[in-house]
Amino acid sequence: MTVPHTVPDHVVRRALELADGADDPISAFIYDLDALRERAAWLKLHLPPGVQLYYAIKANSEAPVLDALAPFVDGFEISSGGEIGRVLECGTRRGFIFSGPGKLDSELTRAMTHGVEMVHVEGLAEIGRLEALAARLGRRQDVLVRINPTLPPQLATKLSMAGAPTPFGVDEAELAEAVALVDASPHLTLRGFHVHAMSHQLDVARHMQLLDWYLGRWPAWRALAAKPDDVTCLNAGGGMGVDYLAGRQFDWPGLCRYLGERLAAMPDAPAIRFEPGRFVTAYCGYYVMQVLDLKHSHGRGFAVCRGGTHQFRLPVAQAHDHPVVHVPRGAGPRREAGRWTVVGQLCTPKDVLARDVDLPGLAVGDLLVLPLAGAYGYNISHADFLCHPRPLQVFLGARSHHTQVMEST
Ligand SMILES: *Cc1c(COP(=O)(O)O)cnc(C)c1O
Repeated sequence: MTVPHTVPDHVVRRALELADGADDPISAFIYDLDALRERAAWLKLHLPPGVQLYYAIKANSEAPVLDALAPFVDGFEISSGGEIGRVLECGTRRGFIFSGPGKLDSELTRAMTHGVEMVHVEGLAEIGRLEALAARLGRRQDVLVRINPTLPPQLATKLSMAGAPTPFGVDEAELAEAVALVDASPHLTLRGFHVHAMSHQLDVARHMQLLDWYLGRWPAWRALAAKPDDVTCLNAGGGMGVDYLAGRQFDWPGLCRYLGERLAAMPDAPAIRFEPGRFVTAYCGYYVMQVLDLKHSHGRGFAVCRGGTHQFRLPVAQAHDHPVVHVPRGAGPRREAGRWTVVGQLCTPKDVLARDVDLPGLAVGDLLVLPLAGAYGYNISHADFLCHPRPLQVFLGARSHHTQVMEST
């Protein structure tokens, strides 16, 4: 399926209203929460029976986003104490699971005090610490052991989260030791395994092969446990990709269909859980920049815009030219010559969002809207750089106690 880079009318209207109502030219994030709800329902609809969907909130943990998603997901995946706070503030309470390297004792304690469903232990030392903390709380804690598997070469290429040296999880060579340590911990119960091997996976066939490989290994992993009957959960992570450039979608229905058939044919199939982030929220967000100046330098046209990569770092993080949609608004002279490099307000040549974009008729005061800005957008940026004010964040379709516009200081 191809998604053209268009911006829905109601988002354009809101962007124009924001610009009309502001003293200065604007930069803002607009999130379409109704579209997010539709997407979450679509993701759920295709899941095979019994397969669960958790949302990895590090992709976007703004309160209205979590509130919109909560009714549709089985829970939230978190990776820090701060993210526990975000989940606790959510209007619809959902369970949460806790991954991530370098968990603090205080974070593990806070997670357990607030009923974390499962802790994904990332190493041998963490197992020992978790046992001691659970004992102190008089609690029995369910855990998944996160595995950094040794993948066959055709699957290992281009993976950044596993199958290569990483700080995440336990190598398969150490897995027996990790499982024995959990089994020997009276306050921990091993419920299964967690593998988050990739990010940016666009190729559904490769994702199928990876799931296949996990399921092939599952009986051997499970057999390591003292009580294999307790071991029923395989968290297959996230990592479904978003094609920012061509607009092709990762074939989620195809992946789900394949997985459903594979599980139905498998004796003692594990309960599978996914925890995507990017694939859930990327599509609902738009970053709006208003054109401040149009100029030429050594033969190249620059559209200097309000905001920049300190507010929307994703294009730099991905090293790509982000798609740009032009919304005319300015009253100044329209430039015929088409190609513009879209930059922000930072005093660094790295502040580039897209190079040589064909934008015929561009004028100062126009809006440029960058779609696919709902995941790893504002929250991975360095908004305090140069002491610029933070952008508006506008949530269209917010139904909760949260205000629709959040202006950070
Ligand atoms: C970041 C992360 C995810 C989500 O990854 P996406 O690429 O956004 O789907 C899921 N699980 C873990 C453990 C993560 O660190």
